[in-house]
Amino acid sequence: MSTPSLLILPGDGIGPEVMAEVRKIVDWFGAKRDLTFDVSEDLVGGAAYDAHGTPLHDDTMARAQDVDAVLLGAVGGPKYDALDFSLKPERGLLRLRKEMDLFANLRPAQCFDALSHFSSLKQEVVAGLDIMIVRELTSGVYFGEPRGIFEEGNERVGINTQRYTESEIDRVARSAFELAMKRDKKLCSMEKANVMESGILWREVVTRVGQDYPEVELSHMYADAGAMQLTRWPKQFDVIVTDNLFGDLLSDLAAMLTGSLGMLPSASLGAPMSNGRPKALYEPVHGSAPDIAGQGKANPIACILSFAMALRYSFDQGDEAARVEKAVEAVLADGVRTADLLGEDGTVPVSTSEMGDAIVAKLDASL
Ligand code: NAD
Repeated sequence: MSTPSLLILPGDGIGPEVMAEVRKIVDWFGAKRDLTFDVSEDLVGGAAYDAHGTPLHDDTMARAQDVDAVLLGAVGGPKYDALDFSLKPERGLLRLRKEMDLFANLRPAQCFDALSHFSSLKQEVVAGLDIMIVRELTSGVYFGEPRGIFEEGNERVGINTQRYTESEIDRVARSAFELAMKRDKKLCSMEKANVMESGILWREVVTRVGQDYPEVELSHMYADAGAMQLTRWPKQFDVIVTDNLFGDLLSDLAAMLTGSLGMLPSASLGAPMSNGRPKALYEPVHGSAPDIAGQGKANPIACILSFAMALRYSFDQGDEAARVEKAVEAVLADGVRTADLLGEDGTVPVSTSEMGDAIVAKLDASL
């Protein structure tokens, strides 16, 4: 089999700092597990604008289409605030998502025991939590036509349209069932079939796709009830699949069950390529954090866990992904903390690179 390829786009602000720690992990796999990646690196966001006058060069876009997985740090920063909308760093990221047609956004909400006190919920409600929200990313009310603000009589009306085709629901449902097969084989689909026709169709198509996955236990829930259940007893869920709007809300809600932004990875997957792997972009949920950039304070764990997701979902290395996750868990259990994970107990924070080194040391210890 050919060497798996990985395009690294560190981006702006803390992006390059956290990505440097991911590189240590990537190199560790080459040196210690004989798992080598064909790694290339390129610019995105403000860094690409500075070099090329555009937040994503066409050559970079073409490379992203060609590799097995893209790993992105973060984009943006105050330096670029005054730029025209079309040149803003975020446009580079949006172009990647759009042209790679990444329709399934995976947002895990995982609570490491050592951090369970960070949640606003009771510790027993979140300790050991491990759920995955799959959000449809390229359709629904954020894209449906007609949209706009129109004159109607003597006032204006704001319109957005929730629109889903069967094939759009089918493909994201399939991604969710495939994920459920790699996890605890439980999938809950959330919509508002009680009040929305798009929800009725959603439920019908997800149920039909479910016939191809008889091993997966499928349930349906209205999205508002789902929000309540997520805060009441989140551990009842394994994988949740939902539309773009509900997914936007529910994935943020679920993520915050677990604490800090510096801990949250994500993946966006598209259609399978000729080698059977889905097009894929992995990135931490956080932004470029200009307030702490360049100070060695950033927590690299979200980006490292994003690479772990790449190992699992793009490279079929679920055991090695679990090795990375366990190394992170072990470091946290030892009390090693970057500044964002500190409470009032007087613990001295470690730097970004010390956190990366500590995780590599745990990987060594895992052999
Ligand atoms: P942000 O996520 O960059 O930062 C929010 C807060 O969380 C800040 O106080 C920051 O210091 C902290 N934080 C974030 N990541 C951290 C980490 N890994 N370790 C420790 N602390 C961390 O969000 P923001 O401040 O609203 O946005 C800053 C810039 O990032 C803006 O230009 C915004 O457009 C951009 N942004 C980019 C992305 C992306 O690249 N996907 C996402 C969100 C925001």
